Amino acid sequence: MGRGLSVSLDLDGTLTDLAFVDGVWNEGLPRLVAEHRGIDYAHARELCRDAYLQEGEASIRWYQLSYWLDRFDLHHVDEDAVISGFTSRISLFADVIPALTTLRQEGCRLVLFSNAPRPFLDQEVCHTSLDDYLDEMISLPDDWGMVKSGEEAYLRLLASLDGEVVHAGDHLSFDVEVPRRAGITAYHIWRGTGAKLDDSLTDLGQLVDRITRGQNHP
Ligand SMILES: [Mg+2]
Repeated sequence: MGRGLSVSLDLDGTLTDLAFVDGVWNEGLPRLVAEHRGIDYAHARELCRDAYLQEGEASIRWYQLSYWLDRFDLHHVDEDAVISGFTSRISLFADVIPALTTLRQEGCRLVLFSNAPRPFLDQEVCHTSLDDYLDEMISLPDDWGMVKSGEEAYLRLLASLDGEVVHAGDHLSFDVEVPRRAGITAYHIWRGTGAKLDDSLTDLGQLVDRITRGQNHP
């Protein structure tokens, strides 16, 4: 069971909760913008939020803190220093380690497939010991120069792995619709906010059940 199967997993909002990344984007960067421009924090948060929305999450720049530091004329600010201010908030959902442990025992190959750039991904992996459970970690922006907003990312993933691939993540488009269009079985992990599908899973234990059952009844 599970032999030859690769399970690809999103990171933020799927394995780790969003407290860390939300801190960087909705507190850390706005605070720097407020200081630099001499505006109040609430105004800076609004400026940042509008700029993010204008860029859009299908853009690789959305994820790259170095881009945003340049865009807000914060060239003097060190990206890693901003990120490290929030690493104490990195936290795994409680169901992650039990699920990954079972999937490994079932012989699945576990791949982290994330839009997080390396400076974020590496910190998250380091603070959670996720690397003890993962066979491969792919930061799409930094390792492949793309994001998983289009099928080409998943086609490349398929080509890079031998055998069947299943993907799971919390983003309805990037983790569900896009991989399904690429011919990959994909599961939506719903973590309590946002839209929920009839077949959304609310716990990684359910993902393990689907995968292990699916192996017997493809
Ligand atoms: Mg996510």
